[in-house]
Amino acid sequence: MGARILVVEDEEKLARFIELELIHEGYEVTKSGNGRDALEIALREDFALILLDIMLPGLNGLEVLRRLQKEKQVPVILLTARDAVNDKVSGLDAGAVDYITKPFAIEELLARIRVALKLHAAPAQSAARSDAAKEGVLTWGLLVMNVPAHTVKYDGHEIFLTNREFLMLRTLLENRDIVLSRDTLLNKVCGYDFVGETNIVDVYIRYLRSKIDDVFHIKMIHTVRGVGYVIKSEEG
Ligand code: CA
Repeated sequence: MGARILVVEDEEKLARFIELELIHEGYEVTKSGNGRDALEIALREDFALILLDIMLPGLNGLEVLRRLQKEKQVPVILLTARDAVNDKVSGLDAGAVDYITKPFAIEELLARIRVALKLHAAPAQSAARSDAAKEGVLTWGLLVMNVPAHTVKYDGHEIFLTNREFLMLRTLLENRDIVLSRDTLLNKVCGYDFVGETNIVDVYIRYLRSKIDDVFHIKMIHTVRGVGYVIKSEEG
């Protein structure tokens, strides 16, 4: 039985088209054309992935995403007709793993679904997910990142990060003293076939600094002008 995918799209023709293509690929599909209904279904049932349109009747996609993320971990790919960086960033910040701008080629959507399913397999499906995760505790000064528990603390104070912020920080911590370019960070954090603007990286760095550096009065993430960002070994 294929992975279960919830398709939330109010354009009936498009929804039907996506459904047929997904079924053809072996996925099991549930459809909803209303944000409120979709949220209810997504909370009640378990899906391997959700494709979520932003402009929806009932409740808009970003709001569905925000409410859903408070309750459960499920990878969401946003379908958006809008092209503004702000919408994409709000979507990613709200926990979406990727977005695709309409109109899109179905092959591209399928490729992104495969990547998202691979990268964000639910814990139950990836029990064998390497020992690295078990011993996945990264520290920097008073900062402790527990990768499997998905927590970050500074001197015992919990820091709440979105999935993307967490991944970004993790990547920087794992590559200490190596300056990572915006492209590298974008690829690491958003997946290799993510077609986005690298200034999204700057936005995340800003969020991380406002949640960590600014709050605890430290300088953890350094900007290397014209190159990218780095966390240096033990300092501050
Ligand atoms: Ca729509």
